[in-house]
Amino acid sequence: MNNETIAAIATPPGRGGIGIIKISGSEAIDIAGKIFYSKKNADSALGTRHSALSLSHHLYYGHIINDQGKQLDEVLICVMKAPHSYTGEDIVEIQAHAGSIVLKNILELVLKKGARLAEPGEFTKRAYLNGRIDLTQAEAVADIIHAKSERALEMASAQLDGGLRLEIENIRQSLLAILSQIEAGIDFPEDIGDEISADEIIRTLDDAIIARLNNLISAYNAGHFVKEGLKVLIAGKPNVGKSSLMNRLLEKDRVIVTPVAGTTRDLIEESLMIGQIEVILADSAGLHDSDDPIEQIGIQKTYQYLDDADLVLMMLDASQDSDAEDQKIYERFCHKPLIAVMNKSDLVTEKPASPFDLPTVYISALHNIGIDDLKYQVEKHCSGADDIEEYRLIPSLRHKLSLEQSRTRIESAISGLQDHIPFEIISIDLQAGISALDEITGQQIRDDVLDQIFSRFCIGK
Ligand code: GDP
Repeated sequence: MNNETIAAIATPPGRGGIGIIKISGSEAIDIAGKIFYSKKNADSALGTRHSALSLSHHLYYGHIINDQGKQLDEVLICVMKAPHSYTGEDIVEIQAHAGSIVLKNILELVLKKGARLAEPGEFTKRAYLNGRIDLTQAEAVADIIHAKSERALEMASAQLDGGLRLEIENIRQSLLAILSQIEAGIDFPEDIGDEISADEIIRTLDDAIIARLNNLISAYNAGHFVKEGLKVLIAGKPNVGKSSLMNRLLEKDRVIVTPVAGTTRDLIEESLMIGQIEVILADSAGLHDSDDPIEQIGIQKTYQYLDDADLVLMMLDASQDSDAEDQKIYERFCHKPLIAVMNKSDLVTEKPASPFDLPTVYISALHNIGIDDLKYQVEKHCSGADDIEEYRLIPSLRHKLSLEQSRTRIESAISGLQDHIPFEIISIDLQAGISALDEITGQQIRDDVLDQIFSRFCIGK
């Protein structure tokens, strides 16, 4: 564990009422004491240097003064002593005026007195490393900061309360109990091994563990886009109006629209809100047989993006009969949730039937017709999230991948028990199942994964 004392400006840049500089670590109080002067019972013109700052959870009023005796600002200082602080270490927060120069000057002075500039998310990382919170709760802090809707915020707050951590911990305990039974069977094959009922263990693994893992995985499928955004891919042949729809939904000319096929060659991603859902919208290259190498790369990227997409808007030209190319696209995409979007409906007097058995909307991206209907269909696609009564247990993609990994190993243990393979092998699967759960809460986690998680944070959090 790193003992260095860290500091950063914790409030966003720009003008505001107050700006806060946060210092955390064993030297935090000492450093603040070297630069903070209180006017109370002043023993010099500067005031009294307040080196003690001995009261925890107490506000001190005074000034920050540099080595040349220059007053940098009038401030309030809040001291929170370890372990009763956000990081679990001594924390000092200097509440100054919010000007960027003032805050920069105070921060520089704090760094000069021995603190190091904090990395993004380092305060929260320390809270996790010091055991104040687990990794799911640390991630929830980032989710709270990034929440774009009330529902996303509600979900993140529930995770910060530790709902997910508790459920994972319960599943882990049940697994651990089975593992110790199996290991006792390995150590004492004659006394205990013969008494262990494989059927009973299989039943427990199925009912108490696999079922609960499945619940969490389903919760991810039903509600992850509230937290992470719904990835929507607009796909179709060239010139059906994909870029026009993208611009219409974004309400700005983000993508070039021309009658020339193959104008959009790269994948373009933008986000917007549809109701309470953040939609990450991607316009893609027109899908057709092309000899143009740049277009081919764009088409390839579209197919790659498809793996991640939660929903595909398959665009068709309502003024033309659908052809073999549309059929080819449909076959390539039909394993994903699809909405058929019949564009250019302004050019027809009668709406043609959708060539595919899909929910269908008729729009004109050019003339802004049917766009609300399309938005309604997108929201309807997300209605599974409305049935979620409480957001305590909605994992993120990272959690879901670990849950699936854990489930695979437990399923392997179950089939091993059914096939009467040695307990030694079963034990390896169960241990791997536990390790996968530990990655979620952070009890076992690779440093690079940890760095990746905290890189989502801003400096000062
Ligand atoms: P993309 O290649 O699928 O991205 O298609 P674009 O958005 O670039 O549009 C191709 C052409 O169709 C442009 O000339 C657009 O102005 C035209 N277009 C797009 N949407 C509509 C529509 O709803 N009605 C009509 N009449 N033309 C449209």
